[in-house]
Amino acid sequence: MALREILHYPEPLLKQKSEPVTEFNDELKQLAADMVETMYAAPGVGLAAPQVGVLQRLIILDCSAGDEPDDLLIAVNPEIIAGEGDSFEEEGCLSVPEYWASVKRHSMATMRYQDTDGNIHEREAEGLLAIGMQHEIDHLEGVLFVDRLSPLKRSMFRKKYLKMLKEKEAENAGS
Ligand code: ZN
Repeated sequence: MALREILHYPEPLLKQKSEPVTEFNDELKQLAADMVETMYAAPGVGLAAPQVGVLQRLIILDCSAGDEPDDLLIAVNPEIIAGEGDSFEEEGCLSVPEYWASVKRHSMATMRYQDTDGNIHEREAEGLLAIGMQHEIDHLEGVLFVDRLSPLKRSMFRKKYLKMLKEKEAENAGS
């Protein structure tokens, strides 16, 4: 296993759509294992393959928040097949460090996905896991949670965030 580098906004690759996984081989299992290690090390509760630079439809989630047992979900070619209820919870993203904002989502969701051997499963969830599923699947469409903010909030985010990045660059250059 190996840690992979997590890409950060405004990396253009994060805006691209991912391809369906068609081969359930060792390479896929290796990618999933690396992503699991990378997510726990970050630490985060979810990670999508494009966040580590791979444009394939693979996401992982563990919303157990350190409770035992872990609730690790490795989902290949995931799709939301049912969603209902409204939630407006604060979200963050490993690709948008140090920024959190409330996003409108379904409060309950059912996801259909394949495991790394290609078997089909369904998982019904509510709360944090339901939100995580929607957030991670968005990544496969090239959509970040900040893209779901109102136009005004989004432009405020861009200004604030790009300014923060510049300040960090200046800090690094000065050190
Ligand atoms: Zn994210």
